[in-house]
Amino acid sequence: MPRARSKARGRTTRATRRPPPGRPRPAATPARAGRVLDLLEAAHPEARCALHHRNAYELVVATILSAQCTDERVNKVTPELFRRYPTPATLATARSEAVEDVIRSTGFFRAKARSIIGCAKSLVTDHGGEVPRSMEAMTRLPGVGRKTASVVLGHAYGIAQGIAVDTHVLRVANRLGLVGSDDPAEVETRLMSLIPRDRWIRTTDLLIFHGRKVCDARRPACGECPVFHLCAWESKQAHAADTSRAGARRR
Ligand code: SF4
Repeated sequence: MPRARSKARGRTTRATRRPPPGRPRPAATPARAGRVLDLLEAAHPEARCALHHRNAYELVVATILSAQCTDERVNKVTPELFRRYPTPATLATARSEAVEDVIRSTGFFRAKARSIIGCAKSLVTDHGGEVPRSMEAMTRLPGVGRKTASVVLGHAYGIAQGIAVDTHVLRVANRLGLVGSDDPAEVETRLMSLIPRDRWIRTTDLLIFHGRKVCDARRPACGECPVFHLCAWESKQAHAADTSRAGARRR
């Protein structure tokens, strides 16, 4: 059993980095998903929606602006945007060029200006200036897909009608072995079947936060991960060794 002996001595070998082909991944069960969430909740109690907002209108606009952009960058432009356009009615009548000037640094600023002005017009025309409270109505707003709708319904109203799947949720859920797909719609459906509805909003917060702080796309800190023992990712041992080496260098 050379493979087992290597592992017992803690050596990082090819055998410990890559499990033998065909080795089953741990089952994606509601119990395992629940345990993962319990541990992430304990490790990251501060995980929250990182987009600054004071109401549902501000959150829907900020979430549209966050496409292909960091939340930090969005948080830099929204104070000025909402100073100039504090309500859907004021944004609905704004000139595109004036809005573009404010949001330019978030990228894709022309398309985003079109989306947020169009969204504001629809809020005024179809919803009396309020952000609607259902997935169906939300996803009819210009620039709003299921991900944005889930974020807004969850964080502005506490309504769980979906699980927002961004790049972090997609990566972390796949590595953990809770899902096996690169399609956000499939991943959302699978997560919704594994996780009880009363945890859907926190699921997004926790997986995003964990993806940013620990389970980085290129350099995951597997050696410091609170759900290491529940993770199905075949490269976690190798990355755990990297984490220990980086830790030793820091000391
Ligand atoms: S063990 Fe590594 S890959 Fe798995 S969730 Fe933790 S950081 Fe991500």
